[in-house]
Amino acid sequence: MKSTGIVTGIISNLVTVKISGHVAQNEICYINLGGTKLMAEVIKVSGEDASVQVYESTRGLKQGDTVEFEGHMLEVTLGPGLLSSSYDGLQNNLETMSDVFLKRGEYTSPLDHEKVWHFVPIAKKGDTVVAADWLGEVKEGWLPHKIMVPFSFKGEYTVKSVAPEGDYTIDDTMAVLLNSEGDEVKVTMTQKWPVKVAVGGYVEKPRPYRIMETGVRCIDTMNPIAEGGTGFIPGPFGCGKTVLQHAIAQQGDAEVIVMAACGERANEVVEIFTEFPELVDPHTGRKLMERTTIICNTSNMPVAAREASVYTAMTICEYYRAMGMKVLLLADSTSRWAQALREMSNRMEELPGADAFPVDLSAIISNFYSRAGIVRLNNGQTGSVTFIGTVSPAGGNLKEPVTESTKKAARCFYGLEQNRADKKRYPAINPLDSYSKYLEYPEIIDYLNSKIAPDWVEKVNRAKNIVRRGKEVAEQINILGDDGVPISYHEQYWKSELIDFVILQQDAFDKIDALTPMDRQEFMLTLVLDVCDHEFSFDTFEECGAKFKEIINILRQMNYSEFQGEQFKKYLDQLHKALSNEQ
Ligand code: ADP
Ligand code: MG
Repeated sequence: MKSTGIVTGIISNLVTVKISGHVAQNEICYINLGGTKLMAEVIKVSGEDASVQVYESTRGLKQGDTVEFEGHMLEVTLGPGLLSSSYDGLQNNLETMSDVFLKRGEYTSPLDHEKVWHFVPIAKKGDTVVAADWLGEVKEGWLPHKIMVPFSFKGEYTVKSVAPEGDYTIDDTMAVLLNSEGDEVKVTMTQKWPVKVAVGGYVEKPRPYRIMETGVRCIDTMNPIAEGGTGFIPGPFGCGKTVLQHAIAQQGDAEVIVMAACGERANEVVEIFTEFPELVDPHTGRKLMERTTIICNTSNMPVAAREASVYTAMTICEYYRAMGMKVLLLADSTSRWAQALREMSNRMEELPGADAFPVDLSAIISNFYSRAGIVRLNNGQTGSVTFIGTVSPAGGNLKEPVTESTKKAARCFYGLEQNRADKKRYPAINPLDSYSKYLEYPEIIDYLNSKIAPDWVEKVNRAKNIVRRGKEVAEQINILGDDGVPISYHEQYWKSELIDFVILQQDAFDKIDALTPMDRQEFMLTLVLDVCDHEFSFDTFEECGAKFKEIINILRQMNYSEFQGEQFKKYLDQLHKALSNEQ
């Protein structure tokens, strides 16, 4: 028996309801408004009163309207067809831009019920299975999409039958399982899962131990992110957060990408709908969208739907992770999500924390970030969710609560700097403030040194020291004047500029420069450090500056030419000449 209720009060999207029966925290309900039903979520229960947050405009709602409780939390529907789809935070299908503004009370089906998928069985009659075990697979694009024992199944089941290879829709029965009591349960290609609960279905979640390549030198070379790791990109408006995330989406070493777009304005969302489908997957030459799910929302969507969107995105990631895939979750910007949390908490008249954010903002953010990770599945294979979120601190103030809380939760920090963006030094990641805590993990150091080069981490640290020293001498030159410091200071300054221009700066809009695989990154860093080790002897600081400008130009050209191609080798020769005719 489902519980029911009567509307007693309304403040914007917050509605109080007199309930009959029992309702649970976070349970979903529908409010009857004329012929339509408005979806809402229970956010507070006290005695016979519940407060529910309506996912839509409450215009026209009045006291006495009836409420039906669903008996479950906000769920996401999982199954083949999630990829290349765009949804709002409640998983309404947004086929076209016009759908971004769905009519009130309209909920669309997330998956296609007519589409036929070619199923190939994996499990067989008599097998013992548990939640998340693979029963069979269908091809979703070119990715093997596993049909799994639903995550909600508890304990062991025996496979009674599995459908033979053939074409089926998502609603067909793919397997019949027997529970410990001998009852039959049917499994289709879809299942539902509450978005705010992490999907289990794995044996172990070890500490990340290997790197996820992004193709972005500033990340991979300087501060790499681990597969199953977490990172965040804070930066003021216009500093390149979105461009950087799109670059990572395109080149990142992941099979599935979930993009949670929490836009400030509708036009930012239009941007994602026009730009993202155009992106080409450099790994396959096909559209990136084929292995992407977009979850998007704008500030004009109701607050609870905005709050839900990042959870919906994360749950989809965990679903693909349980198939043994490498999944990359990008959220742009998580500040909008935090603002939704703030709006909800304020309406509830909860005691506010810093800047009126909820008191437990830090815990909410940490819990969310902790859902990322690399996991070992029941069958011994691994799957991972790597998460990178952007934060847009108001006025670039990194001391505000969302940035501070995220800093505690995420292991990598890629701080975008207004100053670098103004100078068109893209990506505008500050090389000295940014960090990757994974570089402190012994297993990651071993991984890097064994995969890339034996002395790789040492090289990276040397490069960072050169940049650090460059900043110091730049300040001295600035104060004391070009002639007021030894020529060696100029040399140190130019060496840091060399690293900045050749390694740190990267053109996201050039086909070749945008994608730098790890072997190329290793080659370029080694080359740049060789130049830094070269024994120069300059008579004047002008001579020093001219020589380094020449070298920087040659190496920049190399970044734009095909790795180890003819042109690339010509530049290499030029570099050697520039170094040898120097004395
Ligand atoms: P944000 O999302 O932080 O507001 P965007 O990602 O939209 O900023 O970037 C703003 C602009 O900066 C872009 O339109 C682009 O012109 C420039 N830009 C950012 N990153 C790069 C890059 N790596 N290479 C070239 N241009 C860039
Ligand atoms: Mg942006």
